[in-house]
Amino acid sequence: DAPLAQVDPEIAAVLDAELGRQRDTLEMIASENFAPRAVLEAQGSALTNKYAEGYPGKRYYGGCEHVDVAEQLAIARVKDLFGAQHANVQPHSGATANAAAMHALIRHGDGILGLELAHGGHLTHGMKINFSGRLYDVAAYGVDPQTFRVDMDVVREKALEARPKLIIAGWSAYPRHLDFAAFRAIADEVGAHFMVDMAHFAGLVAAGLHPSPVPHADVVTSTVHKTLAGPRSGVILCREEFAKKIDSAVFPGQQGGPLMHVIAGKAVAFKLAAGEEFRDRQRRTLEGAQIIAERLMQKDAVDAGVSVLTGGTDVHLVLVDLRNSALDGQQAEDRLHEVGVTVNRNAVPFDPRPPRVTSGLRIGTPALATRGFGAEEFTEVADVIAAALQPGFDADALRARVRKLTEQFPLYPSTPAQVSA
Ligand code: PLP
Repeated sequence: DAPLAQVDPEIAAVLDAELGRQRDTLEMIASENFAPRAVLEAQGSALTNKYAEGYPGKRYYGGCEHVDVAEQLAIARVKDLFGAQHANVQPHSGATANAAAMHALIRHGDGILGLELAHGGHLTHGMKINFSGRLYDVAAYGVDPQTFRVDMDVVREKALEARPKLIIAGWSAYPRHLDFAAFRAIADEVGAHFMVDMAHFAGLVAAGLHPSPVPHADVVTSTVHKTLAGPRSGVILCREEFAKKIDSAVFPGQQGGPLMHVIAGKAVAFKLAAGEEFRDRQRRTLEGAQIIAERLMQKDAVDAGVSVLTGGTDVHLVLVDLRNSALDGQQAEDRLHEVGVTVNRNAVPFDPRPPRVTSGLRIGTPALATRGFGAEEFTEVADVIAAALQPGFDADALRARVRKLTEQFPLYPSTPAQVSA
């Protein structure tokens, strides 16, 4: 029963250092968030010990009476949250949720049509060496070279040409809404299933601040740890007619024992996502992204070769275009890291630079909104970012401004030991 610090001081030191990093820097990776303490508690609980292959009431192991309650709560809450007919809360991650959904809907060798990886799509939507690219016959749609938006006429043309069995909408780096009704109509026209991967924008959907894909798609997949701010994991929603296929694709099709401690954490996250505090946070997330986009379109930024793809954002992230800047994506990421702002470099569509360098940045606001930031703080953050991308930037001064913000909004104010208790 010895504590971690005693059993394994090296790992205890990693936990402490990482918590310190999260506390002392501005976390702006668009796919990250801070799970609430209640979620961390559920994840760090004795539920991690329990095997529960199967589904509530139909397990292959004894002693599942308590974990059944957790899974039933997670299912009921996520169905309510998104108005879905059926939910499977067992996927270990967003990638496995997508693998299971495809396994349920189509056969190996069938065609899929998704957003090009280099234009903001995800690996699991058809990247060559991902399972999706190896098992299925992949076609892709890209964004328009002028507007950088998905053009539904092009999607339709691609669908008519490729005749896929599954059309996928959803993205990892795209700053605008997609037209789910138009995707549905195209899927119907070519006789394809329609799946939406809302991993990035699920929190906005839950808060009613983004169109919901649920009424349009056969299956909706998501991660739980991005805008939703839950434990690192996945979830699948679907119409009743696909329920059996989805459940059997997850277990026994793909996974063994579900991670019951994580499922308990999902239940907590779905409960919180139905509340007013969560909605307010998503509103601040959107407001922050808009403030950053506007700031990076002002004259000093433009003069430094910085621009914002699509001229703004409808979601929780901003895609910065550095094709005309002296800084490449790697250099810009390093600069921001130097002043205490964590972002990731990101290829822009039609990027002339190689994928490991890139000409873009993806900047997200969910984690800072969770930390409590509102318009005033996001205005300061936007100024810090804009200044860091200027040729004669003052790293010390910017670091001090970052420190002031992090001190103003303490993260996990309890001690590290309490956080992991
Ligand atoms: N789908 C989309 C759109 C994503 O952006 C991601 C993660 O980046 C995933 C799926 C995969 O999620 P995970 O990392 O949990 O496998």
